[in-house]
Amino acid sequence: MQAVAEALRTARHVVVFTGAGVSAESGIPTFRDALTGLWQRFDPAELATPEAFRRDPALVWGWYEWRRARVLAAQPNPAHRAIVELAGLVPRLTLVTQNVDDLHERAGSGGAIHLHGSLHAPRCFACARPITGLAADLREPQEGRRIDPPRCAHCGGPVRPGVVWFGEELPTQALEQAFDAAQSCDLLLSVGTSGVVYPAAQIPRLALQAGARVVHVNMQPVEVGGAREMSLVGAAGELLAALVERVKAADGASHSHPS
Ligand code: NAD
Repeated sequence: MQAVAEALRTARHVVVFTGAGVSAESGIPTFRDALTGLWQRFDPAELATPEAFRRDPALVWGWYEWRRARVLAAQPNPAHRAIVELAGLVPRLTLVTQNVDDLHERAGSGGAIHLHGSLHAPRCFACARPITGLAADLREPQEGRRIDPPRCAHCGGPVRPGVVWFGEELPTQALEQAFDAAQSCDLLLSVGTSGVVYPAAQIPRLALQAGARVVHVNMQPVEVGGAREMSLVGAAGELLAALVERVKAADGASHSHPS
């Protein structure tokens, strides 16, 4: 912890790269955790592909509305808040997320780069026009309930969730910004991601190759490849809050002892 806090304190550009684990303490299930992971109970091929939506739009829309309802009912947790605080303590911080929730924004992070889209930005499946006015007061739909998607006011096509599905391209500009940030930072914190979804999973590797330090914050130990890579094991909320406290304490100490 101390080594990471020191690296944070001296870094000029920090990238925080988050996955589903950063929202786990808000009660949002991750995809791959053994007990709560969504894919333990659902087959992604049935739900998160364009083919699935074509085959059974009500099943897919219902599943995403269930997920959106859970996010609307959730609150940002200490991990989201620690990232906001960290941004105020380092010269430059770029937040890159694979998450499709809006908990970073609701915690107060501005300008997060969303690699996999958003549950809150649906668009027409046929003409791709953005759709506004989705109900914000969703009563939690039951898991597994089918809901017919609304229709696009312009062309009548079915409305789809604004997330990136398996087999789809990531938004080009977001991916470029994320790769640039990874290659120009001196420290990358990779928080709550299993690192198996490509191309996003390349981001920590790009940072390492460009000479940055990479610190993994995860409930599971992450295998590291050298002195510039570290793994902190534990809950993101606890670890990030503790890191921020250490950075603040070290800053305070250095200000009270001018050299
Ligand atoms: P993942 O489900 O594959 O992995 C979650 C990771 O978080 C695991 O490595 C796990 O050990 C770790 N983790 C769980 N709880 C944690 C905690 N409290 N503190 C620290 N680490 C914790 O998630 P991923 O790597 O983001 O997978 C990619 C896909 O999952 C993304 O495309 C993303 O869109 C999607 N997803 C997003 C959300 C969301 O927006 N909240 C939720 C579920 C899945």
